[in-house]
Amino acid sequence: MKIVLASSNKHKVQEINDIIKNQFNLNVEFILPPEGFNPIEDGKTFEENSYIKAIEAWKISKTWVLADDSGLCINALGGKPGIFSARYAETPSLRIERVLKEMDGISKDKRDAHFTCAMTLINPKGEVEFKYQGICEGSIIEETRGKNGFGYDPIFLVKGDTRTMAELTEDEKNLVSHRSVALRKVLNYLSDRIND
Ligand code: IMP
Repeated sequence: MKIVLASSNKHKVQEINDIIKNQFNLNVEFILPPEGFNPIEDGKTFEENSYIKAIEAWKISKTWVLADDSGLCINALGGKPGIFSARYAETPSLRIERVLKEMDGISKDKRDAHFTCAMTLINPKGEVEFKYQGICEGSIIEETRGKNGFGYDPIFLVKGDTRTMAELTEDEKNLVSHRSVALRKVLNYLSDRIND
């Protein structure tokens, strides 16, 4: 079964296909949307933006679609960068710089944060079949550590671990990340539905 992933990010498609290969025995392969996928993400929540991407990809593919919308929420910043995570500054390193600057002076015990990933699964009729928000808890450290991953990984200390997300291997990240938590729920749902 092929499912369109409502994203233009090849790396994301690869990451999700790897999770399926390593953690699931399911005949599902994610593929990029056809040409012309250009959603306007003007929702106010991760869930709304996830639906906007999903329905946009469905309109041009009319098949199964999965969309995700994710970001970093920092308690001390009132949930920011939140849905603005990808646009918080021009480049990934400037985004990290901005976060660290805004958190300057905030003590270690008040630096809680979490990554969120809202997934929406749409069926070939264009209906929402399943949705779920995966969360990964942690905190923001005061410097960058680690070279793996992407985005805010180098400043995100995973709860219950001494390492940042960027110090985990790809397989380790795929066991705990907000995206893998949400994806596991979606795949469990699909697996039950396919075997019904
Ligand atoms: P989107 O869901 O692809 O729009 O991602 C939004 C933004 O959230 C990304 O550009 C990153 O800045 C941030 N983000 C989402 N997931 C992760 C992650 O696993 N690690 C680090 N940053 C992330």
